Amino acid sequence: MTAKKKKSPKAPPSAFTEKTVPPITDNPERSDTKAHEQIPLESIEAPKNLPAHGIWVYIEQLQGEVAPVSWELMGVGRQLADKLNCPLSGVLLGHDIQPLTELAFQYGADTLYAIDDPMLKPYTNECHSIALVQLCQAHHPEILLIGATTTGRDLSGSVATALRTGLTADCTQLDVDVDNRKLLQTRPAFGGNILATILCRDRWPQMATVRPRVFSKPEKQPERSGAVVWSDLGLDPSKTVMEVVERILDERTEGYLDEADIIVAGGRGLGSKDNFKLVEKLAQAIGGMIGASRPAVESGWAPYSHQVGQTGLTVRPKLYIAAGISGAIQHLVGMQNSDVIVAINKDPDAPIFRVATYGIVGDAATLLPAITQELGARMHGAPLGTERQL
Ligand SMILES: Cc1cc2nc3c(=O)[nH]c(=O)nc-3n(C[C@H](O)[C@H](O)[C@H](O)COP(=O)(O)OP(=O)(O)OC[C@H]3O[C@@H](n4cnc5c(N)ncnc54)[C@H](O)[C@@H]3O)c2cc1C
Repeated sequence: MTAKKKKSPKAPPSAFTEKTVPPITDNPERSDTKAHEQIPLESIEAPKNLPAHGIWVYIEQLQGEVAPVSWELMGVGRQLADKLNCPLSGVLLGHDIQPLTELAFQYGADTLYAIDDPMLKPYTNECHSIALVQLCQAHHPEILLIGATTTGRDLSGSVATALRTGLTADCTQLDVDVDNRKLLQTRPAFGGNILATILCRDRWPQMATVRPRVFSKPEKQPERSGAVVWSDLGLDPSKTVMEVVERILDERTEGYLDEADIIVAGGRGLGSKDNFKLVEKLAQAIGGMIGASRPAVESGWAPYSHQVGQTGLTVRPKLYIAAGISGAIQHLVGMQNSDVIVAINKDPDAPIFRVATYGIVGDAATLLPAITQELGARMHGAPLGTERQL
């Protein structure tokens, strides 16, 4: 997405600003009231003094397509809402979004808070932050969950800042302390060596982002419905400083790793780029994509877009084959929720075997070609033992 800065026009005061807005900066060149300055910068009052509006899940959509992580969060949000005995709501921002409203209920929302406005058609941090902050200030959610996508990371930071609340990024587990109504936000900390559970004690909403595929998507319930609470954005377009001039899609011919059903991943134990090709051959033979540990990426055997783990992608395929990967916590956090994990490692004490469904102790360079031949033959119907040309 390419965006350019617009010249700031002299505009009249906003129609919806009801409170005196403190200046964000002392820079005299920025003394005009810009769009983001229309948000009163103050935290939300404690929900104990207000009717509780429960748990909110931000439903991220682009051109009518919802990011799957939004539904995954709706699944875990439902569990948390049931524990807290409060409603679960979706928040939907965009333009011409009416067709998506039903989906929110079918994936578990009791209520949907929505703003439909042409200014929300392309994603801009400015307009979406203002819209989400307005809704939070009007309805006082206790908890706000957002997918840790590129957009979600961008949006959550500015919303948390505007609301002066806490935000825990990239949570791998979520739970609630029912007595104190606190969200228990667990994520790797100190380089992934410990899992820290973080609480936001006296600010609301308690905000967390979660990466795609950490939680599973709930079953769609076509019979479910609920109420949509529509609000106006009420933003003066002449006051915004960002304008989307063009969207350039990242063209990937091989698909997205975090959506793959089968991943064959290789690590430092493969020893060389040539041996890493054995991983590629197995992936190709069984219709999967390649994954890699960080050392494999740093050695130039695989591109960064295929790195699995804390500083790479979180994946949740049906089958994850890990060859020559030790199973460091920073790798495990990115793949441990895979349905079936097959580990190949010459060290019988390698930590990867603790999460593996099936473990094979042996030399990956010898085993991978044999597995490729057998699995490839089975998948393509050739008699067992027949050599296939890859
Ligand atoms: C802040 C931070 C973030 C990080 N983020 C990530 C991340 O996103 N993803 C990631 O992967 N790592 C990440 N790391 C690095 C992580 O700590 C580990 O160093 C890394 O995962 C180890 O990669 P590896 O398993 O390929 O290599 P190693 O740990 O060196 O393991 C190699 C394994 O191969 C086995 N082996 C050796 N030869 C053979 C053979 N011939 N056949 C079969 N097995 C063999 C060995 O027994 C060993 O278990 C991060 C580290 C930090 C500090």
